[in-house]
Amino acid sequence: MLKVESLETYYNTSQALFGMSFEIKAGEVVTLLGRNGMGKTTTVNSIMGITKPHSGSIKLDDVEVLGSKSFMMANLGLGLVPEGRQIFPNLSVRENLIATASNHLDMKDPWSIERIYELFPELLERSSSMGNLLSGGEQQMLAIGRALMTNPKLLILDEATEGLAPLIRDKIWKALAQLRDRGLSILVIDKNLNDLFELADRHYIVEKGKIVWTGTSSKLKKTKDIQYKYLGV
Ligand code: ATP
Repeated sequence: MLKVESLETYYNTSQALFGMSFEIKAGEVVTLLGRNGMGKTTTVNSIMGITKPHSGSIKLDDVEVLGSKSFMMANLGLGLVPEGRQIFPNLSVRENLIATASNHLDMKDPWSIERIYELFPELLERSSSMGNLLSGGEQQMLAIGRALMTNPKLLILDEATEGLAPLIRDKIWKALAQLRDRGLSILVIDKNLNDLFELADRHYIVEKGKIVWTGTSSKLKKTKDIQYKYLGV
């Protein structure tokens, strides 16, 4: 579904991605792992057209989309849950969900507010609360709900559970497992390896702007030296 090849991205003269390449097949859950500052967010932002890549290729269902603006990437079916959540602070929960809702790909059985509230009952209770009054966990649920309301074919989460309490983290992992079981493709960045082992099919480890290791959960579980070398665990 998504094929990233030889992606190079710079911040002014400082290079952040050095030939980033990976792919996600339809229905797969794939992670980008790696220590801070290795280029995971830059990869996601390069794909989404938020940070402009210098060269390489990004194919979505075999169509080249490198250089497309972020609204185009959203229209083409990429739903982003950004680092820091970026909830609209002066809109209510309900308004946040509606503000960017769409179904550009004419998905059957599209997401509705009611279905988002079924996935995250906490949001129903907070339906008329303003975005800036939500807890971190509620904001993350809302960010996921808002992305789902664009009816994406690939959901991308940058730091899925960072800074959240364990109870809330569990709710987020359970919701993502439900989405996976319904067939949604997911690209997820997070640091909680054990949860990612449960959720994901395959993992890519990012080191200094490129992929240095890839494999399944069972392979990564067994490869303690790789975990230690690249992830510091
Ligand atoms: P983190 O988990 O800390 O977000 P990351 O793996 O997502 O780490 P990036 O945020 O993509 O890493 O950063 C990759 C490199 O690009 C780092 O060296 C970082 O300092 C640099 N970088 C990121 N954003 C900018 C920016 N806006 N301007 C200049 N350099 C940047």
